[in-house]
Amino acid sequence: MLLRIEDIDSPRIKAGAADQIRDDLTWLGLDWDGEPIVQSQRLSLYETALRRLQEQELVYPCSCTRSDVAQAASAPHAGQEGPAYPGTCSHRTVADAANLADRPFAWRIRVRDLPDFTDLYRGLVKPDPAARGDIVVWKSAGSPAYQLAVVVDDADMGVTEVIRGDDLIPSTPRQLLLYKALELTPPRFGHVPLVVGPDGRRLAKRHGDTRLAALREAGVRPEALVGLLAWSCGWIPRPTPVNPPELLRLYRLEAIPRNPFKLTPELLRSIGYGS
Ligand SMILES: [Zn+2]
Repeated sequence: MLLRIEDIDSPRIKAGAADQIRDDLTWLGLDWDGEPIVQSQRLSLYETALRRLQEQELVYPCSCTRSDVAQAASAPHAGQEGPAYPGTCSHRTVADAANLADRPFAWRIRVRDLPDFTDLYRGLVKPDPAARGDIVVWKSAGSPAYQLAVVVDDADMGVTEVIRGDDLIPSTPRQLLLYKALELTPPRFGHVPLVVGPDGRRLAKRHGDTRLAALREAGVRPEALVGLLAWSCGWIPRPTPVNPPELLRLYRLEAIPRNPFKLTPELLRSIGYGS
């Protein structure tokens, strides 16, 4: 298990957040191999990847604003990255960037066919046709987009399996496209259901403070929380306290229930959180 601090989305970065993450994971009983990788210290790697895409003319400079894209998109889809890009700037070549020096522009990769993939948990996944559209790989602010940075990092770190929430399924075909363009070996992906609130919506502030730090401050025992989560994955018959190493022999991706796990106030009370 590797730990990576993704800290290049600068407006959203809070001071001390990385230390908090390390503390919380350690409290929970997790550890990781080697030193954590910190994205903000690796910008030259991402720049090299962008150059490789430019050399192949796979990317072009896009000077559209967010509202330009929203207006021009004929069929807006409220995906996590907004409407599919309609291709307004796709006639441009890499060399055209020199003429745009006076205004901000991003780099987009040309997306023709998005690949299918075999998910470790869900089996064959076909890309959502609505997810087509050329995606940003380099932001106009001068930093790599999430999709490019994670592909470069996962390959560089030797990641072989990625287990993540199924809200990221639309990202996977795009990332596979980038692996191919950069001639890198992709990991295998497993997308599992999310933890949701009692209303079925993804767990968020509206459901109360469920940050690890808040549970910890309230005196919740880490083994109780790990036990609750292990039970939610179908690895133990009841939500009883357990330490992460005990779960190594019980871990089975396919045992995880198909429906999202509803974290209710009753369950939180059962581990000593809330009244
Ligand atoms: Zn554009």
